[in-house]
Amino acid sequence: MPPRRRNEPAARSGALLDWTSSAHWAQAALPCRYCAHPTQLRDEERKAAHKSCAEKARDQAAEAAVATYENGEVL
Ligand SMILES: [Zn+2]
Repeated sequence: MPPRRRNEPAARSGALLDWTSSAHWAQAALPCRYCAHPTQLRDEERKAAHKSCAEKARDQAAEAAVATYENGEVL
């Protein structure tokens, strides 16, 4: 019997997003929500975003959440 795999969190800092689904692609290029350069990619909210920009924003949000938690500002 193979060992059971543990469920890993969907969003880990430094991990790459999986945008292989066609749902992350659109015909029209729109300005990226993070850097404003045109892209045909869409994030989980269907907003225009480069994959690398979304990964960077996710990592920055995670770091900010950790910093806020460590400073005791979260209830
Ligand atoms: Zn971008």
